Amino acid sequence: MKKLIIILMAATAITSIVGCNAFVLKTVTKTVDPYFHGPGIDGTKFEKINETIYTYRWNWYRNVIIVTEEGLVVIDPMNAEMSAGLKKALDQHFPGQKVHTLIYSHYHLDHTRGGSVLAPTHVIAHEKSPTYWNAVNHDGVLEPTRYIAGDTTLNIGGVEIRALYLGLSHTDTLYAFHIPSERLVFTADLGLVKAVAPNGVPDRYAPGYLAAMNRIIAIDFDTFVPSHFAYGTKKDLIDWRDMMEESRRLAYAIVQKSGTPGVH
Ligand SMILES: [Zn+2]
Repeated sequence: MKKLIIILMAATAITSIVGCNAFVLKTVTKTVDPYFHGPGIDGTKFEKINETIYTYRWNWYRNVIIVTEEGLVVIDPMNAEMSAGLKKALDQHFPGQKVHTLIYSHYHLDHTRGGSVLAPTHVIAHEKSPTYWNAVNHDGVLEPTRYIAGDTTLNIGGVEIRALYLGLSHTDTLYAFHIPSERLVFTADLGLVKAVAPNGVPDRYAPGYLAAMNRIIAIDFDTFVPSHFAYGTKKDLIDWRDMMEESRRLAYAIVQKSGTPGVH
């Protein structure tokens, strides 16, 4: 009898935990769903930013395509579905033009899968990327043909692309890309336009992240294209930096006030 009561108690506990998880999951899904979906977010869009730069949006992901005399440059394939959609758009808008170079902004698998459909001649990534890829299943990541470290200026088909190494910020393989002739900067998982980041930006080292934003803000440019949601202007990146700094300041003030042990 005693054994039966223990089993019943355990079963009740498990049911309540599972029930609680289902409730939490439902709540989280409800909260997250409108963030990732909505008008201007769902679906795909191929857009011309200026004579040299185009952008392709696949749901909440966005990349850039640079038109050069030697062929196209794509920064971040993201995933197989997005790359397949981009390939169709490229064939339609630039018939016969090949992807000369594919660049990975950082090693994260949601930015680096699906590149093979683009059939690029060259693939560039930060030299530490394989260290992280080799620790996980990285099927679908097209292998780089060239690894870079530190700031690297790429001259492809008459277009200067400045790959700015951002140190430990959002991983330690992160690059931002400055195209001076177009007064444009592309960032991956660093800054958004009039939007908050999911979960405060995963895989983020706050001091390095803020330093990276400040480094980009010090550049003279006009158009800001982040890897998620809408693109905008340099002012949008400044606003975003200010919001992150203010959030950090408020969180610090609250922790100090509540006297959390071990935090000063
Ligand atoms: Zn990332």
